[in-house]
Amino acid sequence: MLSIEQATRTLRKLLKRVEGTESIPIEEALSRVPQGSISAPIDLPPFRSSAMDGYALCGPPEIEPGSRFRVCGESRAGHPYLFPLGMGQACRVFTGSAIPENTTAVVIQEEVKHDKSSIVVLQEVNTNDNIREQGTDIRKDQPLTLGYEALSPYTLSWLAACGIEKVEVVRKIKVAVFCTGDELRDPGESLGEGDIYDSNRMSLKLLLRRKPVELIDLGKLADDYDQIKTKIKSVLDEVDLVITSGGVSVGDADLVRPVIEDIGTLEFWNIAVKPGKPFAVGRLNDTMFFGLPGNPVSTIITFLMFVEPSIDILSGLPWQTPARFRAKLVEHISHRAGRAEFQRGYVVNDIQGLKVQPTGDQSSHRLGSFSRCNCLIVIPAHRDNLHPGEIVELYLLPGCRNLV
Ligand code: AMP
Ligand code: MG
Repeated sequence: MLSIEQATRTLRKLLKRVEGTESIPIEEALSRVPQGSISAPIDLPPFRSSAMDGYALCGPPEIEPGSRFRVCGESRAGHPYLFPLGMGQACRVFTGSAIPENTTAVVIQEEVKHDKSSIVVLQEVNTNDNIREQGTDIRKDQPLTLGYEALSPYTLSWLAACGIEKVEVVRKIKVAVFCTGDELRDPGESLGEGDIYDSNRMSLKLLLRRKPVELIDLGKLADDYDQIKTKIKSVLDEVDLVITSGGVSVGDADLVRPVIEDIGTLEFWNIAVKPGKPFAVGRLNDTMFFGLPGNPVSTIITFLMFVEPSIDILSGLPWQTPARFRAKLVEHISHRAGRAEFQRGYVVNDIQGLKVQPTGDQSSHRLGSFSRCNCLIVIPAHRDNLHPGEIVELYLLPGCRNLV
């Protein structure tokens, strides 16, 4: 059995970024990985502008209270005043409007007294006050991205602000998904004796939606060696990754593993982790194979801890687990040394720091353990029982918001 660290190391050795890129509109580039860094095509802001509604002044470096300026024009956003200011002149400006040449500083409108055609400054104003200098957000040719980050709404907005229309990104990862089990029915179907509903395919498809993935849903398969083999072989030339759930343990109906041994190389299939022990990783020519355990909680946890970071590597990103924190445990957790464990937990941001507790019964068939769960509590393999007051590590679940 491999430890989490050994499994991670093995995976990182096996995986490399896929070949191929495409140019797409930035609006479609959320979560995609740019090919190399993206440079700013212009200075941002593109011109020297006002940070406030007020008056652009041309005067000495320190403008004393009581100084008077003659207002000679107005600059509105999109409608600049095109003449340079002379000493003692002012121009009415608004937030974001271009300021005229020779502007020393902008005084905000609340800090002036004005009569017909002039203003008197009420507070001291210093050189460059309330001015947004050209290129202070980013300079032309400086990198907007470093090339190893998935594009976020924030970065993509920045690209838009620089006038970038399209971006060259790593192509999508092609992933085929199916689950196995004679007992599985789709939601909406009626359950026969001993049947259960297939939830794993839903988990996988929805978790994969957050990734730059083109998904082929191969449905659910019976526990049938030939059917499983034929299905996998049918997509091998098409996909980078096959993900299955179920049938990777050691029972008579666990046929996925033997199929992988038959048509490819099984790299490992057992990790010292709870839940998620039977987790098969193989190679089928150029296609990676992940056989996730059938228990619904195990499927989700092995996906988050191993499959998702693997997809990141295929997409050109570093290996990334969910965000890791430390928190004070507020409840006893029973654990026997041997396997590492991920317990579903609920972390709150208390005045004294983060506090976490498990979400009740942790059996690996209980999707209910995810209810009110926002993190996975890490219990290292060597640990016995954990006690209230201990500091534990946890992974924040992707998509979780404030810790209330
Ligand atoms: P297996 O790994 O095939 O031995 O399955 C382990 C447990 O997970 C069994 O109780 C299965 O019925 C259950 N299981 C397997 N596949 C699914 C699935 N797609 N959705 C929900 N439960 C499943
Ligand atoms: Mg099964």
